[in-house]
Amino acid sequence: MDNINNLYQELIIDHGTEPRNCHVMPNSNHDAEGFNPLCGDKIHVYLLLDNDIIKDISFISKGCAISTASASIMSEILKGKTLQEAQNIFLQFQHLLTTEDPAPSGLGKLIALAGVREFPSRVKCATLAWHTFKDAAQLNKSRENHD
Ligand code: ZN
Repeated sequence: MDNINNLYQELIIDHGTEPRNCHVMPNSNHDAEGFNPLCGDKIHVYLLLDNDIIKDISFISKGCAISTASASIMSEILKGKTLQEAQNIFLQFQHLLTTEDPAPSGLGKLIALAGVREFPSRVKCATLAWHTFKDAAQLNKSRENHD
């Protein structure tokens, strides 16, 4: 277990210090800003959507290592996915962070962030990028309208 935790810790440090897809996207067609007042994390998520496919995703952020690492890992995972797939991954990720259930398969590197569930105040750091992504993709709105 210790080895696995070390591996996860390294993954978070890696993505926290050298985040992937961390830049402004000049040709984005959707974007949103998010703020986590509990920790002071700020993020701006950019999307290039082609109908419901995430052709490209990037972000800029100013915050703690967990919020930056989570955004970086999210950007890697969501590129090329459909909005529906993204929504499903987010629901699984949220479940992982807020329950004691074993991690579902298919979350990939996101499992590295499971450790934050022992620190409820940090869960918002890990989910900020995702909530901001949903705002950018207007998933919150479109779900409400359709359901
Ligand atoms: Zn934070």
